[in-house]
Amino acid sequence: MRLVLLGPPGAGKGTQAAILTEKLGVPHISTGDLFRANIGEGTPLGKEAKEYIDAGKLVPTDVTARMVEDRLSQDDAAEGFLLDGFPRTVEQADLLAEMLERHGVKLDGVINYQVDEDTVVERMLGRGRADDNEETIRTRLQVYRNETAPLIDHYGDAVISIKAEGSVEEINEATLKALGK
Ligand code: ADP
Repeated sequence: MRLVLLGPPGAGKGTQAAILTEKLGVPHISTGDLFRANIGEGTPLGKEAKEYIDAGKLVPTDVTARMVEDRLSQDDAAEGFLLDGFPRTVEQADLLAEMLERHGVKLDGVINYQVDEDTVVERMLGRGRADDNEETIRTRLQVYRNETAPLIDHYGDAVISIKAEGSVEEINEATLKALGK
């Protein structure tokens, strides 16, 4: 299964993806995790990405798209993937469509985790990641509203909306049910 996970920062995409990856048997590909791994290893990509991430801004699309295409080309992603954090703009969605076309494959669906802003701010302040301070969170929510939310219309009928409030298990069950699993 080839799925894109959408939702505001703090919607719990990563938490759900960690469970779905086991149940669906496809890798969880998170651009945020890939960037953080590169930052941790001090790679040139990590050094470039860090300033944007610390400011809550998007890393430039060419850098991000190259990283995603490399990851999607690895063997474990041949039969499917859960893409978390990409695309984040309509431009990135167009690049993803081109990548998939080059690989001769199609998306099976787009899961949109819906959650209100007060909840996501509370969740992010609670998890204490380096980029989870109040100012950065505000910037990321603004980027989400302006750049990422339009993807819901962009993907139209492919979108499966899930209410991402409640327990982790409840949200997971709702996701699997919506996928017919
Ligand atoms: P969250 O789910 O809280 O938004 P992520 O781990 O998905 O956190 O992303 C953290 C940061 O990594 C983003 O704020 C952004 O700076 C960068 N990033 C992740 N994905 C992308 C992307 N597709 N394009 C540009 N920047 C990205």
